[in-house]
Amino acid sequence: MRAKFVAGNWKMNGSVAANGSLLDALVSGLGGLASDRVVVMAPFPYLAQCAERLAGTAIGWGAQDVSAHGPGAYTGEVCASMLAEFGCRHVIVGHSERRALHAETDEVVVAKAVAAVRGGLTPVICVGETLAQREGGETEAVVARQVDAVVEGAGIGVLKSAILAYEPVWAIGTGRTATPEQAQAVHAFIRGRVGRADGECAASLRILYGGSVKAANAQSLFAMSDVDGGLVGGASLVPAEFLGICRAAFGLSG
Ligand code: PEP
Repeated sequence: MRAKFVAGNWKMNGSVAANGSLLDALVSGLGGLASDRVVVMAPFPYLAQCAERLAGTAIGWGAQDVSAHGPGAYTGEVCASMLAEFGCRHVIVGHSERRALHAETDEVVVAKAVAAVRGGLTPVICVGETLAQREGGETEAVVARQVDAVVEGAGIGVLKSAILAYEPVWAIGTGRTATPEQAQAVHAFIRGRVGRADGECAASLRILYGGSVKAANAQSLFAMSDVDGGLVGGASLVPAEFLGICRAAFGLSG
């Protein structure tokens, strides 16, 4: 049985003051939650603030990117072992914004996922199709290519230490959410694809849905059998929304 998991992606948002109130609200709203179920992924400069405020709570924290390399001459980059040294446990890899804006290819995404696991982190590996690809009937082909790249390039050992996130690009930050049925269909497809290489890994693999998840639609998405939680962008910056999403995931009363 896969326990639900919710990750909040703050993207490039935040300030010490705003993060402070957001973290306070999450800590008081999620008291009593089992640990390792909720993480917030903050910009690098705020990770220390998250580490300090979330110490001893059930909420974890993570980064939004990691170098594909180990320590060395890579000016401006941050490697997995550095993050892990401070208590970071999760990192987003292959977010569509990084694929689109920073030209990250499947090969780079795979290299980052491998580096994350080697450095002691759990990568949250994002896959998903654009609107043109969905409308062109290419969703399964695109997602298969992205998932196969991980299975073949990184290997099942890495995937066993990873979380996948299905994030249709057309649903990210657009307010246009995949229907629960659309999400379930792709999640089941992804699980089946991984299952071709390793059935046990596929059965235990967490696959999150991301794309305009809100408190109002979280319950119906999370009710789908292959949707194991959410990767939440915009709504993770609004305490009432993020708490509502977490309550929907964990069946907590508000
Ligand atoms: C994201 O940033 O990964 C995301 C899914 O954003 P949003 O929830 O705002 O669509």
